[in-house]
Amino acid sequence: MAKLSPLLKQATPVLADHGEGVYLYDTDGRRHLDFTAGIGVTSTGHCHPRVVEAAQQQVGKLIHGQYTTVMHEPLLRLTTRLGDVLPEPLDSLFFLNSGSEAVEASVRLARQATGRQNVVSFAGGFHGRTMGAAALTTAGTKFRAGIGPLMPGVAVAPFPQAYRYGWSEAEATSFALRELDYLLATVSAPADTAAFMVEPVLGEGGYIPAPPGFLEGLRERADRHGILLIVDEVQTGFGRTGRFWGHDHAGIRPDILITAKGLASGFPLSAIAAPTELMERAWPGSQGGTYGGNAVSCAAAIATLDVIQEENLVDNAAETGARLADGLRKIAADHPRIGDVRGLGLMQACEFTGPDGEPDAAAAQRAHKAAVDGGLLLLTCGAHGNVVRMIPPLIVTAEQVDDALELWSAAVSATAD
Ligand code: PMP
Repeated sequence: MAKLSPLLKQATPVLADHGEGVYLYDTDGRRHLDFTAGIGVTSTGHCHPRVVEAAQQQVGKLIHGQYTTVMHEPLLRLTTRLGDVLPEPLDSLFFLNSGSEAVEASVRLARQATGRQNVVSFAGGFHGRTMGAAALTTAGTKFRAGIGPLMPGVAVAPFPQAYRYGWSEAEATSFALRELDYLLATVSAPADTAAFMVEPVLGEGGYIPAPPGFLEGLRERADRHGILLIVDEVQTGFGRTGRFWGHDHAGIRPDILITAKGLASGFPLSAIAAPTELMERAWPGSQGGTYGGNAVSCAAAIATLDVIQEENLVDNAAETGARLADGLRKIAADHPRIGDVRGLGLMQACEFTGPDGEPDAAAAQRAHKAAVDGGLLLLTCGAHGNVVRMIPPLIVTAEQVDDALELWSAAVSATAD
């Protein structure tokens, strides 16, 4: 008899039966408040009726219209619809299945379009698990150890981490940008550097928003040196941070934008977007995949966009996110182990530190387990595993945020030392 591989490491013991909105129900009928949203994917909630209907209708019409063989209507309609939300002048889209694949596609595009080889990513960044994406990923050695050699041509610069170094955000930003300039002067010459690859909020690396001035500094250097700015919005996109895109907070323009996760409410779909003239500098037919731009996923993505717009989910993420952050700060005020509360919109986290200010993974794991046992599904993150994060669906209500805060407060109190 076959069984599941021990390679699988599960964050909770839940055996899911069905999901509805912000709740997951296990096979014993127990209800869980889901503040993981399948790692930031089910932004419209579990099984939103509009998404279910769109997918069901598409399943009965055409499931797999392979896009390098035949074009299909859901892909064309989704492309048009995404035009409403993409930043100018990113008017050209290429679809894949997962975040990692889209990250790899963006590197192929950047290398072909510039004729340069290197990509600079930022320490603590997460960009996926395929060998190219893993080379760009420095959110923890667990994503890299023992699997190398990874894709060559990657240089890593610091991401501004104010809390970690006890700096102000301005100090952290200034340090990171100076180190980037040093890296361009010593390791990866601008003439060899195709792109910067950055997340607007470090996700798996610990929920650290790019402080003011950092993304702007990258944009300025990208323009100065002819380097492309690739913004990985896999986790931060589609309203998650209280603006449609995470980079909207900085008011900058990416050259290549990567989206996945929240794009199709749980159906596998990802995309890269760039200006047409940039895409034209790469080679037709050099990208693709059997399942990319799946018809059912595209239909679900169109419904997802409808729901986000009609139910004002971006505004809801900003409002409920502020409420969540506020509540988390109040709880942290009574719990010295929670050294920092941070995030943007509905991407919020608590970092646990010991009396010496060092990362305290054990305290984070205890609080996480107590929350999950109490019916609040959460995830951890951060290079040291000492950050507990909350990423509820964007449909979450103020009452559900308050319920989560109550469960979190109980979990933290029960596990305080
Ligand atoms: N980029 C970011 C910012 C992510 O958060 C993730 C997934 N956590 C990925 C890329 C990889 O996406 P996937 O797991 O769909 O390959």
